[in-house]
Amino acid sequence: MSTSWFDRLIGRPKKSPEAKVPLPPHRPPSTNTVANILDVRLEQAASLKQLRMYDQALRVMNMARGITLESMQADPKDPMAWLNIGRVQLADEQFDEAKKVLKHAAGLAQESGNKQVAGFIDAALFQVLRHQPNASQRTFDLSKPLTEEAYQAYRSQSLGEMFYVCQSCGRLNLMVGEHCAHCRFAPQNLRDIQLSFALSANQFKTATLVQIAQKIQMGQKPHEFINSLDDIMARFDTDQGVLEKIRNNAEDDYLDFKALDRCPACKKTIWVSSADVCPHCQAKLNRTMLLKLAICVDRLLQQFIWNLKRRDTKEYAQLIILLVNLKYQLVRVQQAPTDAQRHSATELLLKTNAFFAGNGGGVVFVHSPTSVVSQVLDPTVHKDIGATMDFIRDEMQHFLRLISDSVSLF
Ligand SMILES: [Zn+2]
Ligand SMILES: [Zn+2]
Repeated sequence: MSTSWFDRLIGRPKKSPEAKVPLPPHRPPSTNTVANILDVRLEQAASLKQLRMYDQALRVMNMARGITLESMQADPKDPMAWLNIGRVQLADEQFDEAKKVLKHAAGLAQESGNKQVAGFIDAALFQVLRHQPNASQRTFDLSKPLTEEAYQAYRSQSLGEMFYVCQSCGRLNLMVGEHCAHCRFAPQNLRDIQLSFALSANQFKTATLVQIAQKIQMGQKPHEFINSLDDIMARFDTDQGVLEKIRNNAEDDYLDFKALDRCPACKKTIWVSSADVCPHCQAKLNRTMLLKLAICVDRLLQQFIWNLKRRDTKEYAQLIILLVNLKYQLVRVQQAPTDAQRHSATELLLKTNAFFAGNGGGVVFVHSPTSVVSQVLDPTVHKDIGATMDFIRDEMQHFLRLISDSVSLF
């Protein structure tokens, strides 16, 4: 049983049966070293499983289990040690156990004030949540004060579909209770929170939210173009938990997206996410693959907001939500897409196949993961229609390449 597994670990760590893996006669490596070893080993085990080489995968996983338990026993108060164990359990698809262990790690990280590890633990918990079946989406009861626990429960229920439009800059974000990576906005009072919830998947369909995003980016205020917005906001009564969370996260060190957008030398915006050299001043950019993917996802989302035709289909909604999730992972926690995310992103692009411009002037076809083609249908709609469709084609091509298995993001 999962509970006894966890209790055994806590209660009698040195004698737990899982620890019977032969221990090497040396000091256990530091938990940071173990984390680095896991980066390689878990990847390796996943590849072996894909190749159906289960015996070899099992050996690698046993080794990973052994080394994580050993380092936890050496220092049971180290949150990183527990995070490592949680990661192994995640790879083993032991989601309930992983959740308990990661919660324990989160408690230790909070006690020791280790914000960096707390961020990693959040990322791992995020993965656990993603693997849990989607509860049917229901409006959260905000009539009572929201505790941290209720907030987490809310997040776990709605992560699959939930996202919102930043009321200040109009970008699409995943979490209401965090600072926007584009404009740093975070709700400061109850009214702000109510508006954030109102401009979310709680309230509107994806295509409508994308339209709202464009209007806000054009400089309009939500109250100017949404009917009875005050009535909608009033449905979200109170929310002390989110405000508290925002205050606690006031100085968290997320990436500021504006800094990523620009050339560090000449400070001009570089639109093409695959660029290695600044097109304005020829400075070398040294962008990691993960960073390129983050920029690429942002470019695609902006194209969906500004130039591509909005649709009222399930695939369209899934694609937007997936991109918003990827952006959150890449920008907030610097985490690569999971296999499942890579798979469904490719599948959704292929299924949609034809992405039409909102003005009808052009189309981008995704024929295969390696073949994306742009075409102008009506050159009279706008003088830049050809360049725009080519840009979308290139970004989709780049996106498909980066999320394919052939590119290592680390
Ligand atoms: Zn914003
Ligand atoms: Zn430059």
